[in-house]
Amino acid sequence: MADRDGLIWLDGEMVPWREAKIHVLTHTLHYGMGVFEGVRAYPTAAGTAIFRLEEHTNRLFSSAHILGMPMPWDRETLNAAQRAVVRENGLESAYIRPMCFYGSEGMGLRADNLKVHCMVAAWSWGAYLGEENMRNGIRIKVSSFTRHHVNTTMCRAKANGNYMNSMMALQEALRDGYDEALLLDAAGFVMEGSGENIFIVRDGVLYTPDLTSALDGITRRTVMTLCEELGLKVVEKRITRDEVYIADEAFFTGTAAEVTPIREIDGRAIGSGTRGPITERLQMLYFDQVHGRREQHPEWLALV
Ligand code: PMP
Repeated sequence: MADRDGLIWLDGEMVPWREAKIHVLTHTLHYGMGVFEGVRAYPTAAGTAIFRLEEHTNRLFSSAHILGMPMPWDRETLNAAQRAVVRENGLESAYIRPMCFYGSEGMGLRADNLKVHCMVAAWSWGAYLGEENMRNGIRIKVSSFTRHHVNTTMCRAKANGNYMNSMMALQEALRDGYDEALLLDAAGFVMEGSGENIFIVRDGVLYTPDLTSALDGITRRTVMTLCEELGLKVVEKRITRDEVYIADEAFFTGTAAEVTPIREIDGRAIGSGTRGPITERLQMLYFDQVHGRREQHPEWLALV
């Protein structure tokens, strides 16, 4: 990953990919206090466009605010940096990774007198959970790891350190032969995947967990808007594990995962055991939206 051609935006400058390096005493590397985003750009008829750039940047700033991290750049600069890395790397479609982290100016938990650094990289990244799985759906397993408790970790923040929990859950699921993990919250209710929000469908109505300890996903919000436009009802509520077992359909949403159907959970088929019709409709509509093939929401597409 580190050894390739291209440019990375680092602290206000475009740096050759291989030279975008930091010191081993980088504070965030030691304690995980940092914030980041995962953003995607897609080809559209008018050129490559970043999907919901402003919302992602706003969430980055909210994450930093929650952690009490001063941001050295304003939103416009970071938006421009994200457009620039896609453009200057000549990417038609891209996954974009902005991150803000504490530098190597000092050590210790006090974290005073530290400088906040920002980087933005972009590269090509296909279907996160596999191309075939987008058609047939993935197999998931309820994790033995619990999603963060709201008063232990700040769940609204997309913070670096939060992802240790996600990684342990995903690695466990993969080791056991599944595609993704489903994490329950500390009370035992369904919360989210390692990097995705979840929706289930039953009798034509969509249900998704209310955002207690789940990340406020931008794809989740997009899908909710698309449902509204289709006249589909979405209910946010606490969901139990067995409600997923008896759902007609289920799917994950995320910038990386896009709209990924779930065909099986804990060895039980969900509905017909393949991508359901409502999932397929929303998946197609989502792809139409991000590729600028719909007239609605032109404000969601930022040309690079
Ligand atoms: N939950 C978690 C834990 C995530 O990491 C992500 C990916 N950012 C999501 C949900 C989905 O969020 P979004 O749709 O904004 O990518």
